[in-house]
Amino acid sequence: MTKLTEPHLSGLVSANLWWIRGQRHDVVVDTGLGVSSIRQHLPEVFAHDALAVISHTHLDHAGGAHEFAHVAVHGLEAGAMASPPPASLHPRTEMELLGLAISDADALPDSLLEALPRVNYDPATYAVRPATVTRVLGDGDVIDLGDRRLRVVHSPGHTPGSIVLLDEDLRWLYTGDVIYDGPLFDEMLGADIPSYVASMRRLLDLDVVVVHPGHDESFGAERLHELGEAYLGLRADY
Ligand SMILES: [Zn+2]
Repeated sequence: MTKLTEPHLSGLVSANLWWIRGQRHDVVVDTGLGVSSIRQHLPEVFAHDALAVISHTHLDHAGGAHEFAHVAVHGLEAGAMASPPPASLHPRTEMELLGLAISDADALPDSLLEALPRVNYDPATYAVRPATVTRVLGDGDVIDLGDRRLRVVHSPGHTPGSIVLLDEDLRWLYTGDVIYDGPLFDEMLGADIPSYVASMRRLLDLDVVVVHPGHDESFGAERLHELGEAYLGLRADY
């Protein structure tokens, strides 16, 4: 398994892409913003019938999905893959589109890009391009790579169709935005705190040794439980 990150992005939207090699086919968990082309820069990612598995359809996870011939997403977000909502690389605009509260607009950078990916790139033209969903996922589904299997755990709350993927042999958990070592977002468009609380409880019951999250670094079971319990404490009223 290899962690990929898209260059040129502000930390706000720099997501992890997890490239998992399988005997039958590869899987790439999440695809970045899609500002830079994976196909152009890392064609080897596509060499083994890669299936893009989208943890949820926010732009920093689903933006590159259109480059893949095989795309899997939870049924509740398949529509957003086919016709993506408007998106922007202007932080304030994007936060408004996502329904995020803006507490200190002056502290926001001018762009979600820290550098232009190529000459003549115009960030104003950015949009998430439609992708063709070839597999609709539901809770309990198994993605079989041949020598490796990933079990889908529907984990709504951050978005309705958020999923985490459990490799039951390695006890590795790919979590997207459901949990990572940073502030979690449960008060944006499409988010739902009671669902998030239920998903977090369920996640903490999984047998896991390493978490590979959608943002920042991987961590172990102890940190998973610290972060999860902290979230449940914060939302104890739900
Ligand atoms: Zn997200």
